[in-house]
Amino acid sequence: MKVLVINCGSSSLKYQLIDSETEQPMASGLCERIGIDGQLTHKVNGKKLKDEEKNAMPNHEVAVQLVLNELVNEEYGVIKDLSEINAVGHRVVHGGEKFASSVIINDEVIAAIAECNDLAPLHNPANLIGIEACKKVLPNVPMVAVFDTAFHQTMPEKAYMYGIPHKYYEDYKIRRYGFHGTSHSFVSKRLAELAGLDINNSKIIVCHIGNGGSVTAVLNGESVDTSMGLTPLEGIIMGTRSGSIDPAIIEFIAHKENKSIDEIMTILNKKSGLEGMSGLTSDFRDIRKGVADGNPLAKAAMEAYIYNIAKYVGAYTVAMNGVDAIAFTAGIGENAPEVRKGVMAHLGFLGVKADEEACKITAEEIMVSTKDSKVKVFIVPTNEELAIARETKALVG
Ligand code: AMP
Repeated sequence: MKVLVINCGSSSLKYQLIDSETEQPMASGLCERIGIDGQLTHKVNGKKLKDEEKNAMPNHEVAVQLVLNELVNEEYGVIKDLSEINAVGHRVVHGGEKFASSVIINDEVIAAIAECNDLAPLHNPANLIGIEACKKVLPNVPMVAVFDTAFHQTMPEKAYMYGIPHKYYEDYKIRRYGFHGTSHSFVSKRLAELAGLDINNSKIIVCHIGNGGSVTAVLNGESVDTSMGLTPLEGIIMGTRSGSIDPAIIEFIAHKENKSIDEIMTILNKKSGLEGMSGLTSDFRDIRKGVADGNPLAKAAMEAYIYNIAKYVGAYTVAMNGVDAIAFTAGIGENAPEVRKGVMAHLGFLGVKADEEACKITAEEIMVSTKDSKVKVFIVPTNEELAIARETKALVG
């Protein structure tokens, strides 16, 4: 079966055509600046065939049509006819409490996703635009919605309720939802296989640390707590997001600098985290260089970043009354040995022992703890597109 995986933003559309037999991408790419001047990057076998070529791309429907044209292109197309696309899998950011698993998309599902727009005003409307565009261009192809929040719907009430008046949950469904669920689910399953654990009898912690980041406690294959909350702002320090702070800081800055709540939210989402702390950029490679250059703010940012992640691992060990295995994934988790080593150095009391040599290896599925480490620690590269393709196949298959 061939599954077209779509991840749609407000002015962008990422795609992969995945052959679910080989589980390999046949083609992938990105439409950017939709509604502006339209740029398309299309790759086959990882090789760029069209690099940011300008295309008239007034809306997402035209973008989807251009992607399909690339897939059947006479010269470098990977399929002969669009009828070879058996299903489309859409990444949808917020499923609220309505979706605890992936679903086949119909009109009711579209309406229910729209009802969650309030909870993810930047993401859900864009995801719906992608769904509508595909519906128009591929009207007879079944489509599946895969939610970032669904995996965390197993969290117990004690983990998802905030210490605020209950009316806010009743009136607006304010609670912890958690994100990166597709990745946490994919990585925890793979970690169980790699560590030789029975997923149904396991205590796993996944550290998904990229530009955004979250840590999840996965008990017997189910998410029981996660660091992101109502929005992706809560939790560990991230590239540009502050992570958890004292909420009174918002009022304090508002008064001191005469700023609106919207302005402060922009600071917390876009100007904080590693970038704000270091005064450099959000890219971990720049922080690393800053540390090497002796920049004290870069050093402080890196130390706080590592310490924060380690604290969540500690908390989730408590949540599960133990931990069997830990995974590092996403851009920083897969590529930053100093972060893995730094976090593991805090976990000696749990019997975690780092394998110094293995720790240096990057972006590979590999054990980075020693053989006699009580808790197994692995790098498990995430693959959200493949996870979406698998979910889609399972429902449409
Ligand atoms: P993601 O959001 O998962 O795509 O992760 C993106 C982040 O991974 C970037 O902002 C970088 O900070 C980080 N990253 C990517 N490659 C490397 C690398 N070789 N070393 C350290 N950090 C990296």
